[in-house]
Amino acid sequence: MSAKILDGKLLAVHLKEQLKHDIDTVVKAKGQHIAIASIIVGKDPAGLSYALSQQKTAQSLGINYQLQELPENATKEQVLSLIARLNNDVNVHGIMVNKPLPVHIDFSILINALAPDKDVEGMSLNNLGRLFIGKSHMIPCTAAAAMAHLHSVGIDLKGKEAVVIGRSDIVGKPLALLLLQEHITTTICHSATSRAGKLDGHIKRADILIAAIGQPLFVKSDWIKPGAIVIDVGINHVDGKLTGDVDFDLVKEKAGYITPVPGGVGPVTSVMLMHNAFEAYKCQKL
Ligand code: NAD
Repeated sequence: MSAKILDGKLLAVHLKEQLKHDIDTVVKAKGQHIAIASIIVGKDPAGLSYALSQQKTAQSLGINYQLQELPENATKEQVLSLIARLNNDVNVHGIMVNKPLPVHIDFSILINALAPDKDVEGMSLNNLGRLFIGKSHMIPCTAAAAMAHLHSVGIDLKGKEAVVIGRSDIVGKPLALLLLQEHITTTICHSATSRAGKLDGHIKRADILIAAIGQPLFVKSDWIKPGAIVIDVGINHVDGKLTGDVDFDLVKEKAGYITPVPGGVGPVTSVMLMHNAFEAYKCQKL
C-alpha cells in the first residue's frame, strides 16, 4: 500500500492559522506587534530571495520583518556593532543572521553575539545548551519543522525506534535531542556508518527515519521498515530539479507516511522561525 503523503504546504497553513490566532490573542490585543531583524551581509541572490520569502510569511502573521542590509565588504566589527544595537533595542524581539556570509566573517561569532532571548534561529551555544537539557524556547527551525511533521501523524511516539541520518549541529543533532525528549529510542547515523557498511542495518529497525544528509535519492526502499514514518529533510538540486535524500517514488510504496521534496519539511521551516519570534516576544515582554 502506498504511504500517506505528509503535505508540508497544508501543515504550514494549519500551523500558521494557529500561530496567528495566538499572536492576535497575546500581542495584538495589547496594541503591540512582534518585530524581527534579519541581517544580510552582501548581495547573494539566494540569501536575499530566502529573506524576502520569510518577510512575506512574517507579514501574513502581522510580524514586522526588518531587513538590515550591510555591504559585502562590511567588517566583522561593523556587523557586531549592528548586533549590539539590535540587542539593546526593546522594539526588536528577534534577530537572525542570513547565510551565506562573506568568507571573512565567521557565522558562529555573530550568532553567539546575539542576546539569547533574541536568537530566533536557536543556533547560539546558549540555546543549543538549553536544548540539550530540554529547556529551550527557540528550537532550530528545520529540526522543529521535521518534528511538526512527526506530530502531525498523530500516533503515540513513546518507545518507538528512530534513526536520524546526518549529525550536523543545525539539523541532525538537534533532531536527535528532540526525539529523545519524546522518549523515542534514537540512533544517529553518519558518513562513517555508511563507510562501515552498517547504515541499512540501522535503518531497517526504524519506525521513524529522518534523512538529513544532502545526497540525492540516497535512501533505498529495501532499507525501509514497512509502515515507517519517513521524513526527508534533504534539499538537492539535480538537473535543475529539487530532490530529497530519499528515493521517494519507491520508498513511498513501503513506508506508512512520507514527506515529499519539495513540499515537505521546507514550507514548515519558515513558520517555525515565526513561532520562535513569538517565543522571543514572550520571553521579553511577558
Ligand atoms: P551537513 O552537510 O552539515 O551534514 C550532512 C550530514 O550527513 C553529516 O553529518 C554527514 O556525516 C552525513 N552524511 C553525508 N553523507 C552521508 C552518507 N552517505 N551516509 C550517511 N551519512 C552521510 O548538512 P545539513 O546542513 O545538516 O543539511 C542536510 C540536508 O538538509 C541538506 O540537503 C540540506 O540542504 C538540507 N536542509 C534542509 C532544510 C529545510 O528547511 N528543509 C534546512 C537545512 C538543511
